[in-house]
Amino acid sequence: MDLIFDAGKKGRKGSTLPEFDVPETDSIPSALKRSEPPAMPELSELEAVRHFTLLSRKNMGVDSNFYPLGSCTMKYNPKFHDKICSLPGFSNLHPLLPQLRRGGALTQGALAVIYETERLLSEILGFSQFTMQPLAGAHGELTGIMVMAAYHKSRGDSERKVMLIPDAAHGTNPASAAMAGFTTKTIPSDKDGNVDMAALKASVGRDTAGIMLTCPNTLGLFDPNVKEICATVAKAGGLCYCDGANLNAIIGRLRPGDLGFDLMHTNLHKTFATPHGAGGPGSGPIGVAEKLVPFLPVSRVGKRSDGTYALEYNHKDSIGYIAPFYGNFSVVLRAYAYLLTVGRKGLLRISENAVLNANYIKEKLSEAYDLPYKRTCMHECVFSASRQIRNGVHAIDIAKALIDRGIHPPTIYFPLIVEESIMIEPTETESKEQIDVFIQHMLEIAELAERSPEKVKECPLTTPIGRLDETSAARKPCVAKL
Ligand SMILES: *Cc1c(COP(=O)(O)O)cnc(C)c1O
Repeated sequence: MDLIFDAGKKGRKGSTLPEFDVPETDSIPSALKRSEPPAMPELSELEAVRHFTLLSRKNMGVDSNFYPLGSCTMKYNPKFHDKICSLPGFSNLHPLLPQLRRGGALTQGALAVIYETERLLSEILGFSQFTMQPLAGAHGELTGIMVMAAYHKSRGDSERKVMLIPDAAHGTNPASAAMAGFTTKTIPSDKDGNVDMAALKASVGRDTAGIMLTCPNTLGLFDPNVKEICATVAKAGGLCYCDGANLNAIIGRLRPGDLGFDLMHTNLHKTFATPHGAGGPGSGPIGVAEKLVPFLPVSRVGKRSDGTYALEYNHKDSIGYIAPFYGNFSVVLRAYAYLLTVGRKGLLRISENAVLNANYIKEKLSEAYDLPYKRTCMHECVFSASRQIRNGVHAIDIAKALIDRGIHPPTIYFPLIVEESIMIEPTETESKEQIDVFIQHMLEIAELAERSPEKVKECPLTTPIGRLDETSAARKPCVAKL
């Protein structure tokens, strides 16, 4: 039974409602009513449960499969932190509950969690203050760029309209800058995958609003010139923004604030115990240097001299509201619990193993796949299928072949500056045994691409549907029928 809309029988049902014990009334105006009841399938509870369980088994997720989707940090998120979120004292909170003791103190604990998480992130990442308001990484970028704009405006610096963006940046960076009203200028990478310093120096000037640097960049590389890049932009009067979504690579080892960045965002739903992807709630807090604190969005969580916490709205230079109330509180709570669980030593082990795992894969696969930048990588490694396309096998074919082998494909065709790119991020939560299985599959697929390329091109054979028209699937989804 695959098609729930075609299944079932008239009158069949999965629930029993009690008899009316009040008089029946008909108070809905007929203009607001449907003329016909909606065509819903009528099913027993068992049929509905089987249908949805079957669908869930067709899904691939971190809890079921290895998921090395580059840049997305699809690591395993311990269930303990979910359990904390489901404690009734947290899960039953309503944003309109009174904040202060007088009114019942019901939200003091939640405000303390937000306040403490802001303090922890400020300390770990080297900034003066954080805000937990932004609801995703890209939303953090937009917030950060709006803060930058407010800073320049406050100084009467109205000429600064150009945002510099290296070509190894995440695609959301130019989009955020454009949404905030800036024009973008692309800075090319040099042959080693770093920012081309000569091009950067030639691009900065009186019109420079700032730079958005993805660090480490989307090639999975750490640019050794970061300090010089920040100094160059700062000298021209611009601000330096760190896209910190790749934080898993450097957490605990390096504080972006110490490198010269004025502000950054981090993805709690990558590095800090909330899964990324699947459209679930996210959180992209931004941290700022002292001089940018006045422009942070409201509300801010303040701590008073009597030890109570309160949401503050009275910041006259603030960019204003970017999200209601607290941001995504449960995501913040998970991050707080995670930070307390792993501690300082745990943070070091996260970045150590994330980088070690990626370099292990890079070494083991570099005989079989072309490696455009031959140097130590960070938390992910980027290959190219340029050798395989000589036999007609593209990055997408390799990705589809992995699906048949029970592995979620890596990110492909991103970053854009690598032809036929395959971007692999194993994360720190995978065992060596699992990574060896992946390596073995990748080697076998490379061999198959040499010997019988048509076999790779016919994958996937194990899924309900083979190859999709991916553009139509995204733009015109048909969700009712399989
Ligand atoms: C994931 C990611 C983003 C965007 O984060 P979202 O929460 O998906 O909006 C930005 N930059 C980099 C480098 C990323 O990996």
